[in-house]
Amino acid sequence: MDDAPSPPVLWRGDGADQVGIARRARRRTLAGHHVRVHGLGPVGVAAAEAAARGGADAVSLAGSREAPAAPVARLLARIAPGTRIHLDTARRVDGSIVAAYGSVAPALAHRLLLDGPHVAALADESGVSILPVRAGAGACLRCHALLRTDRDPAWPVLARQCEALTEQADPLTATVAGGLAVASLAALLENRPARPWRIEHGLPRRTAVPPHPACGCGAA
Ligand SMILES: [Zn+2]
Repeated sequence: MDDAPSPPVLWRGDGADQVGIARRARRRTLAGHHVRVHGLGPVGVAAAEAAARGGADAVSLAGSREAPAAPVARLLARIAPGTRIHLDTARRVDGSIVAAYGSVAPALAHRLLLDGPHVAALADESGVSILPVRAGAGACLRCHALLRTDRDPAWPVLARQCEALTEQADPLTATVAGGLAVASLAALLENRPARPWRIEHGLPRRTAVPPHPACGCGAA
């Protein structure tokens, strides 16, 4: 499906018209899809907003005591009145985005892997890492955690503490990260390639996250 705006008709000056100035690219879209966003810190809110603006039929919001879903639901209702908003984690969705500080709790990571395509937006003090996951086709969130543990044996202890925290990011980085997370999920839902990104000071760069041989996800 194509949700791109219609190109302008331009006059060439020689009596001929021209439609637009470039060959039209097929746009990724969330139309027809139900998306869930876990974690509603600044990156999660930016992702929820991008999903609603990106044409998702429905957006489910999974908040927390510190970052509740209700204010975000009101925001989405205002900017995308045609999008259905749900405040539950039980309803079946087509794809998920999880925004977290540093690490996603293993139980949620496992559930996301079973449920389908998902994208993690992992914030830290200097930026946000975006990791799109299609089960068995590339690194999963457990691969990511195992790689991190290879570099720092204390990571499992640190990660456990991170699970209780809400992500935070500067507004520009959060906006770019939320948009990239949604665009990556749209690519996954259309079976197109989606690669990891790192965003710092609002600027994205491509990164690589190899599957970990000790993870049982089957991607290695
Ligand atoms: Zn894995």
